[in-house]
Amino acid sequence: MKEHYLWEVEDQPKEKTVEQNLTTDILIIGGGITGISVAFSLRNSKYKITLVDQNQCGHGVTLRTTGKLTYLQDDIYSKLTKAYDKETSYLYFKSQQEAIQIAKDNIETYHIDCDFQELDSYLFVTDSKNEKKLEQEKEILQSFTEVEENEKLPIAFPIEKAIQIKNTAVFHPLKYLLSLKKICKEAGISFYEDTMIEEITPKDNYFIASTGKHKIKAKQVVVCCHYPSFVIPFFTPFKTYLEKSYIGVVPNTKKEKISAINLDSDVYSFRSHKNYLLFLSETHKLSDDVDYLEKEQNLKKKIEDHCQEQPLYLWSNYDLMTNDYLPFIGRIDEKHPNLYLATGFNTWGMTNGILSGKIIADLILEQKNPYIDLFKPTRSINMTKLKNDIVNDLNTAKIFAQTKVKKNYDFYGGNAKIVTRNGQKCGVYIDKDGKEHVVSNICPHMKCSLIFNPTTTTWDCPCHGSRFDIDGNVLKGPSTYGIKID
Ligand SMILES: Cc1cc2nc3c(=O)[nH]c(=O)nc-3n(C[C@H](O)[C@H](O)[C@H](O)COP(=O)(O)OP(=O)(O)OC[C@H]3O[C@@H](n4cnc5c(N)ncnc54)[C@H](O)[C@@H]3O)c2cc1C
Repeated sequence: MKEHYLWEVEDQPKEKTVEQNLTTDILIIGGGITGISVAFSLRNSKYKITLVDQNQCGHGVTLRTTGKLTYLQDDIYSKLTKAYDKETSYLYFKSQQEAIQIAKDNIETYHIDCDFQELDSYLFVTDSKNEKKLEQEKEILQSFTEVEENEKLPIAFPIEKAIQIKNTAVFHPLKYLLSLKKICKEAGISFYEDTMIEEITPKDNYFIASTGKHKIKAKQVVVCCHYPSFVIPFFTPFKTYLEKSYIGVVPNTKKEKISAINLDSDVYSFRSHKNYLLFLSETHKLSDDVDYLEKEQNLKKKIEDHCQEQPLYLWSNYDLMTNDYLPFIGRIDEKHPNLYLATGFNTWGMTNGILSGKIIADLILEQKNPYIDLFKPTRSINMTKLKNDIVNDLNTAKIFAQTKVKKNYDFYGGNAKIVTRNGQKCGVYIDKDGKEHVVSNICPHMKCSLIFNPTTTTWDCPCHGSRFDIDGNVLKGPSTYGIKID
């Protein structure tokens, strides 16, 4: 089954690919909400700017988001207060409010039609055991802003308790992104699609980004490609992990308006969009050894139970989570002051992607920004964070080891299996005409074994989320290499 997305825009313009060597002042890699926000913030600068995307702009994680613009983000303020302190927690709160304001200002100034709707956000618990957690979050938030308590949600979904805050919103992420992109193009920014950067090499005072066939010479590079493993291969696996969720979209016949997420271990997140309701659940770490198909069935069952509907759209999505709950936005390290990174949004990349635009533009334009230190990728790790780091590293290491020894995956309904041919571990998919599609079973990124995903008919990496089609082409990084067998 091919995944379809509610946010797909039919007449999205297609950009050319890179077909010759290029020179630019600033190269932005990745045209999701983050890359486009960076381009937008820099559009009136003196610099020549080039943005490249391996696919189509907006067709990465941003296409699969729920698209809430909110500062009520799980129990982030309790976590940040614990891992850092209340000031850090407050600064993060301010940053998220500012991001919502940036979006709102852009929408108003440029009359962007992106179904922007101001809507209160809810944080709720379904299990009374988690009420204390909710109470803690409320206490901290109350010292930052106005918080109300509520016994129910605006949709019929049973809960124990909720808190509710104002000045948050929902929007259509692709319509917003494509409007900003159009403005960037009018300002002279060059866009290229179907162009994957495979490698970045620092030279004396510039970088060479290679697409394999062509080279892009740039004085400054901004890496906004969600999983930047090709820049710093061992940075992300050991400072972050990937979390995956499943989203179903059902008709919102009662036209209820909602933006809500819970704090229980069985995650639920809801968001209305016009005549639709987005229903998210079944969240797990990508490194967990789970059956994706089963997860999807569980989601369908939950949707049926709560909404008495079949999903019109169904997809899965994953985001990069950081061990200290703060994104990485800024200079990658002191050695490379002209190399910038924006990722690790902990499933809150609408606000943090928009904010990245402002922070990175301010760094490049040498402007002050109150959030530079908060998000800098080189920040030091305190002991609380270190504890989480170890747990995640061990988990990654465990899966890394496990996937290397797993033998036979004949359970994919008979049409996909893993075999050893000529001493090489191969993934074999047999299509409806009986033709074999043979690929390598090893992910080129960090050598994990791939798992067949029957929902999307793809080979997926359980360690870090790379995805390949049945003929071995990369559909999604971190891997920049395919798994074709010569
Ligand atoms: C289930 C789920 C629900 C979410 N809901 C919300 C929400 O309600 N609110 C919120 O704030 N956040 C939400 N998020 C998080 C948010 O969607 C993401 O953090 C955000 O979309 C990330 O945007 P991005 O631009 O960084 O990445 P992407 O959108 O993935 O963009 C990266 C781009 O880089 C390109 N690329 C990758 N590698 C290369 C390469 N080597 N060369 C060239 N191009 C490359 C890709 O093609 C892609 O277009 C959610 C996340 C998940 C998983």
